[in-house]
Amino acid sequence: MGAKKSDSDRRIGRRALLVGGAAAAVGTGVLARDELARLYWRLPGVRRPRVAGAVDFRGARWVAASEANFRWADRPDDYTIDMVVVHVTQGDLSSAVKAFEDPGHRAAAHYIVGKDGHVTQMIRELDVAYHAGNRAYNERSVGIEHEGFVDRPKDFTDAMYATSAELTAGICRRYGIPVDREHIIGHVEVPGTDHTDPGEHWDWDRYLPLVRKALTASA
Ligand SMILES: [Zn+2]
Repeated sequence: MGAKKSDSDRRIGRRALLVGGAAAAVGTGVLARDELARLYWRLPGVRRPRVAGAVDFRGARWVAASEANFRWADRPDDYTIDMVVVHVTQGDLSSAVKAFEDPGHRAAAHYIVGKDGHVTQMIRELDVAYHAGNRAYNERSVGIEHEGFVDRPKDFTDAMYATSAELTAGICRRYGIPVDREHIIGHVEVPGTDHTDPGEHWDWDRYLPLVRKALTASA
């Protein structure tokens, strides 16, 4: 988050190509029934079924983001997920939740981790959240916001680091993402961004070992 930036991601993408491919294949009538069952949600106007309120991180609170702030998708089937992007909200949890519920905000992340270590999920990992300010990076990543301000190191609490590391470890496990600084990056490292989060006080030397430890513990 941080400075405002338009991130609406509105072009016809690879998913549209997949949709076209599936529709063309169905048109030939040669697909087996189970293949059709697997592909039908790629047809135009059909969305993969979802369970209302379901979350990808156990114990997360679900609050739906405005549909204007993400794009429905079917990751990792239509886009490979190989990155986690770390953000800082530049505000408190409730104002971040409000912003992501606001269709005028034009941006939102999948998750917000509070100072108390609780996780709010607002977009499913299968969908493309507009958080990175870069279409390709949005399509390949999961975005995690952290409640606080980049210039206030005390905002980054032990509880926040612990839960965020568990969250990132789960994402790395689900999609086979290596736990390193090539794949777990700050918003500031996204090409073309004018954002500075998570800032110099975010402790990467602490965070990555915590992620590795959580990954090992869950194995
Ligand atoms: Zn950010």
